[in-house]
Amino acid sequence: TGSSSRQQAIDAVTSYVAPETEFSEPLGDLFGRNVFGPSAMESRLPKSVYRSVMDTIDRGAPLDEGVADAVASAMRDWAIDNGASHYAHVFYPLTGLTAEKHDSFLEPDGDGASIALFSGKTLAQGEPDGSSFPNGGIRSTFEARGYTGWDVTSPAYILENPNGNTLCIPTVFISWTGEALDKKTPLLRSQQAMSKQAERVLRHFGHDDIDTVVSYAGAEQEYFLVDRHFFYSRPDLMASGRTLFGAKPSKGQEFDDHYFGAIPERVLAFMIEVDRELFKQGIIAKTRHNEVAPGQFEIAPLFEKANLAHDHQQLMMTTLQKVAERYGMTCLLHEKPFAGVNGSGKHVNFSIGNANQGNLLNPGATPHDNAQFLVFCASIIRAVHLYGGLLRAVVASASNDHRLGANEAPPAIISIFLGDQLADVFDQIAKGGATGSKAAGILHVGVDTLPPFQADPGDRNRTSPFAFTGNRFEFRAPGSGQSISGPMVAINTILADSLAYIADTLDADLAAGVEFNDAVQNVLQQIVNDHGAAVFNGDGYSEKWQEEAAQRGLPNLRTTVEALQQFTEPSVIDVFDRFKVLSPRELNSRYEVYLEQYILSIAVEAKETVELARTRLLPAALRYQGELAGLAVNLKSVGVEYDSDIIGGLTGSIRPLITAVEALEAAIGEHGGHTPLEEATYAKDVLIPATLAVREAADALEALVADDLWPLPSYQEMLYIL
Ligand code: ADP
Ligand code: MG
Repeated sequence: TGSSSRQQAIDAVTSYVAPETEFSEPLGDLFGRNVFGPSAMESRLPKSVYRSVMDTIDRGAPLDEGVADAVASAMRDWAIDNGASHYAHVFYPLTGLTAEKHDSFLEPDGDGASIALFSGKTLAQGEPDGSSFPNGGIRSTFEARGYTGWDVTSPAYILENPNGNTLCIPTVFISWTGEALDKKTPLLRSQQAMSKQAERVLRHFGHDDIDTVVSYAGAEQEYFLVDRHFFYSRPDLMASGRTLFGAKPSKGQEFDDHYFGAIPERVLAFMIEVDRELFKQGIIAKTRHNEVAPGQFEIAPLFEKANLAHDHQQLMMTTLQKVAERYGMTCLLHEKPFAGVNGSGKHVNFSIGNANQGNLLNPGATPHDNAQFLVFCASIIRAVHLYGGLLRAVVASASNDHRLGANEAPPAIISIFLGDQLADVFDQIAKGGATGSKAAGILHVGVDTLPPFQADPGDRNRTSPFAFTGNRFEFRAPGSGQSISGPMVAINTILADSLAYIADTLDADLAAGVEFNDAVQNVLQQIVNDHGAAVFNGDGYSEKWQEEAAQRGLPNLRTTVEALQQFTEPSVIDVFDRFKVLSPRELNSRYEVYLEQYILSIAVEAKETVELARTRLLPAALRYQGELAGLAVNLKSVGVEYDSDIIGGLTGSIRPLITAVEALEAAIGEHGGHTPLEEATYAKDVLIPATLAVREAADALEALVADDLWPLPSYQEMLYIL
């Protein structure tokens, strides 16, 4: 029976033996060992080839055609020296997952022997049979193929496996018409767009040696760990990544004893191995501690250029999942695996800058530096105000809807937190008027020095979705399972728009003879006045904020269906098109794919709910009912009066479950609509409530049915047995 498999799961957890590991090498020797990065390239490539590749990586210079062959052959030799038998083009389809197409280095040479083949052409271009990946109508299977193209900016690396290693080549995935079918292409395009506009602004500040400006990203990744035995006893977790049933544990997270608490031995061993694996890939994972919920943890890599951070983040997610298995656990990246328990986010910290000009979001030491800093901050305020809806849309998914606004994660209203000090500076700017008016307590941009800012301690303002934290911004709405591409593409693009606006305004003012500091003061003041409504330093979880935000005209897009409509807004279509990040067709394909994914997720959950309720939960309740009925008969036969309240209460709770299951089945059978939007709306308005009704009825039964008959591991077991 189900319950005995549940008991077996508990037995297996308690008799768990840690795997043998041999960590003889010191961590320092491992760093970047599996990466064909700059140092491996420098030692294996002719100097001119090396310089040409580095030029492409650092400055986006077009790659010399002759270079590809030389790199390919060096890369192949390096990979084979490191035990690789296969190579794979790795790409990032719109599902947000990582996909790989594997090929062997070895091919028959006609004489029965094999040679290692790997030309520049093979490196530069692959042709995966990616027809099963969603493309939102851009690519019909009969129409054309999709190609993977080597992304020179992201180093190739080796993925280890006891049966042979694989050389992984990060790629972009595009159609034959050059349209982006993936999450990487728009990220690279958006980096370029942002850089171009940032350089224009920097030129105004008199820099003469301006390097490409890049955006940096560091994503704090939250996740849950559960023992694998429990995972495999929960078909709902397996099918949808979250529990569709489960009464709240008597001991929840209200004691706060998990946060920064002691890490269980097995989890610590897992974390150490994750760190080592990531270190080999050149990824420095920085922190690890228990998160708020029991069973929840966090890992944060050191920030990197956003395009690299993206690939590394994807690799980090697969590494977490792979290593967890080795330790008999499953890593859950779902945003809300357990109802009533904190969800998991992925806070994307970002800044912009380069080696030459430094971090542009770092307040400087001189008035001139500070003016520049304020201009870049203002560009973000403007971007968040104009495109807050878009920022909500790029983190929209069926699973993240459970988390956003659930009193533990930022609300669906996108506002910006500046902290008291910076907010005060912008207040002064708003009141400042022209530089000439020397009223006391008014800061004069470009003349006065800013007060030194305190780096934000981090957790103080968890309620804001978009917070300034001393020298960077932290976007807290992204979900734990999501790719950071969507958020970074949006941020880069809307920043490009703001920076272009600022550069245009300065151009015009200076041409009209306005003095530089006054021109800066003017544009800052104008931005604060026009877009200051997005700044909110209060409690984002409060009811009052919902009302105030509405008064300020900030959108509150509670669900994915509402949020995704942003992709059809003229201003959003225009900004992506204007900066050549996504054409209207490419943007629309994303709109359709994400709607489709929403519909699919809800449908899977609804079907799984019916199946579990019918085949596991209802039978458990009926068995218990039968047991009680037998007991009543037996008691009566020996002259003892049976308390019929117990069986009556149970019977009364079984009926609602049957009714709810029947209603959900009927809802699944209905046609949801003719367009994806109609179907998604149907899923949101009909399927989700019907699914939840089944859960509520079943969770009520969980509290009544004998524990040894209940087939699913309980919340208590999953969250506390590690
Ligand atoms: P906290 O818990 O205070 O938010 P963490 O140290 O856990 O801070 O994580 C902060 C994340 O921000 C890390 O990934 C870190 O590398 C990243 N980060 C730090 N400085 C910058 C920066 N200038 N630009 C982008 N990311 C940064
Ligand atoms: Mg943080």
